[in-house]
Amino acid sequence: MADGRSTPAADKPQRSLPIGRGLRGRCPCCGEGPLFDGFLSLRRHCAQCGLDYGFADAGDGPAVFVILIGGCIVVFAALIAEVLYRPPYWVHAALWLPLILIVTLVPLRLIKGLLIALQFHHQAAEGGLDRRRDA
Ligand SMILES: [Zn+2]
Repeated sequence: MADGRSTPAADKPQRSLPIGRGLRGRCPCCGEGPLFDGFLSLRRHCAQCGLDYGFADAGDGPAVFVILIGGCIVVFAALIAEVLYRPPYWVHAALWLPLILIVTLVPLRLIKGLLIALQFHHQAAEGGLDRRRDA
């Protein structure tokens, strides 16, 4: 800035979005240490760079994306199969129950890692009230 002041964002070097790190379940900072300790639970910190994962809170975000995307896939596939072939109910159960497991469990970890990586990149945090009293 011309007046010598700088914003926190200006102090940091511009980095590319850590999408690959998030999808691979790696630390959003260094990309080396594992993010997860189990299927969906997070580690306390990065084993490589020591980044504290306390900031990470994807909330219901991964579940919402999985429900919306997976629900569309399964419902439209079931509707198309019903309209075109009119299969018996046991065929619907045999087809769609495994598909539901696939379209929910496989992307859940990927999306959680991605959302945490994007949260780290954008320094997103829970909102709060601004209690300034300028008057
Ligand atoms: Zn790290």
